[in-house]
Amino acid sequence: MTDAVMKTYAPADVVFDKGEGVYLIAEDGKRFLDFGAGVAVTCLGHAHPHLVAALTEQAQKLWHCSNLYKIKGQERFADRLAEHTFADVVFSCNSGAEANECAIKIARKHFAAKGSKRYRILTFEGAFHGRTMATLSAGKQAKHCEGFGPMLEGFDQVAFNDLEAARAAITDETAAIHVEPVQGEGGMRPGDVEFLKGLRALCDEHGILLMLDEVQTGVGRTGKLFAHEWAGITPDVMAIAKGIGGGFPVGACLATHEAASGMAPGSHGSTYGGNPLAMAAANAVLDVVLEVGFLENVCTMGERLQARMADIVAKHGDILKGVRGQGLMVAFECVILNMDLVNKCFENGLLAVPAGDNVMRLLPPLVLHEEHIEAAIAILDRSCTELSENTK
Ligand SMILES: *Cc1c(COP(=O)(O)O)cnc(C)c1O
Repeated sequence: MTDAVMKTYAPADVVFDKGEGVYLIAEDGKRFLDFGAGVAVTCLGHAHPHLVAALTEQAQKLWHCSNLYKIKGQERFADRLAEHTFADVVFSCNSGAEANECAIKIARKHFAAKGSKRYRILTFEGAFHGRTMATLSAGKQAKHCEGFGPMLEGFDQVAFNDLEAARAAITDETAAIHVEPVQGEGGMRPGDVEFLKGLRALCDEHGILLMLDEVQTGVGRTGKLFAHEWAGITPDVMAIAKGIGGGFPVGACLATHEAASGMAPGSHGSTYGGNPLAMAAANAVLDVVLEVGFLENVCTMGERLQARMADIVAKHGDILKGVRGQGLMVAFECVILNMDLVNKCFENGLLAVPAGDNVMRLLPPLVLHEEHIEAAIAILDRSCTELSENTK
């Protein structure tokens, strides 16, 4: 193995060579059930024929031309998101952090353009918004910020799901509230419906912006196109990425006309954002996710998976203590170290992802069937049994 890759990761000792639907195949031929989906990215599984066809066709025509020119795929992508969400306008970028950066810039510019002194953004403990300086400053997680100071000024933080604390933290300098409807990296913690509704009301009361980070929860992951629909609210600004490209790096920041009123030609940009290749992938993902019945299957499979996970918790109380999450964004609360369970599942052919608060996340492709759930449950059962035997 080379030493030339910068040591920002500690990868498992495996190289995947190929993907087929819900499976990943390693170089040595070993098959893994992929319940990590590249951290909620490959929402249609691997090598989905519609995505492969769309990307192949575009690859033969045009990869990139820059935003100096009109890009038809980008216009279509924006039109479709506007049609299916609260948004009027869409900025295309390449990642979740960039989508959140755009949201932060929209909020500051919105008030600056009005001559208002509001610029501060309220975020929540356990939040994760990305790894750029602004998104680190927004997330405020010590383990991510350590050694990178000084952080960017202008972010305040209170406890997640604590509406009164949020109310108390708003000042005449607050521009926006920025929140994940379900905290992903922070430990798969759903925001209560009353909390999310309350934040919307607070924003309305103070004339400030509600900005949602749906980078992980979006594009069908929770069983609605976007997770905020469960709470019956709409944001003013929303960051998306991960699932929207199905594995191609795509991000986007959606906003109302009013929220984005400060953004004019020259105020923001991205060389790659919304390029023809990325937009071919994203539009192909939308083709499938917007099909009638797609989200119903996510709901059905999510309920099924959570019920079967609860069975495993009931059987292995020495290893696991609970299940949390929404739709196909779920996690086991672990008694043992989450990483020990992740490693044991890996050994047995199941890919899962650790997260904060000692949970192990399951984020399977949204196209999975019951047989995949049963196969995963069998591996989980076996892994827990083996871990129990080890501790005896
Ligand atoms: C993954 C994630 C991000 C960061 O996305 P990148 O594409 O890695 O920049 C931001 N917010 C949330 C909620 C995420 O899950």
